[in-house]
Amino acid sequence: MKTEVKFLVDAMLKNLVSWLRILGYDTVYWRGEDEEILRIAEEEQRIILTMDRGLALAAYRRGLNVMLITENDVPSILADLASRYGISLDFDPGKTRCPVCNHLLILEKQGERSEWICPNCGKKYWQGAHWRNITKTFEKARGKLAEKAHVKTR
Ligand SMILES: [Zn+2]
Repeated sequence: MKTEVKFLVDAMLKNLVSWLRILGYDTVYWRGEDEEILRIAEEEQRIILTMDRGLALAAYRRGLNVMLITENDVPSILADLASRYGISLDFDPGKTRCPVCNHLLILEKQGERSEWICPNCGKKYWQGAHWRNITKTFEKARGKLAEKAHVKTR
């Protein structure tokens, strides 16, 4: 199995964190000094996602992997990450992370209903009414990715 990409998201993009975790990607977010963000990204081999030009430039100069985000729109960002780093935009019930603490979740089949439990923070998850919205966002992201591919081949 190829090594999965890991992300470090700056505080301005905090809303992106749970989406990446649901898709199974190891994601942390950081609020603080740029220097500290750069150090963590370097030590933990994380891709920096930021809306801060200064931080993006500093990361680039250090040879770190960084993506500057200009518009905080979750489906577009996910599509960009899929196109650039090959992240999957399909939910995998066996490989999803706790939106709260980033730990891998354990899938527990409960009859017809799937439930996930976080062995780290103890939270339980299931595909309730909100799940439709989550699915919609991933669908939108896949649509944007398809558009991109189309534009590229023209
Ligand atoms: Zn947790």
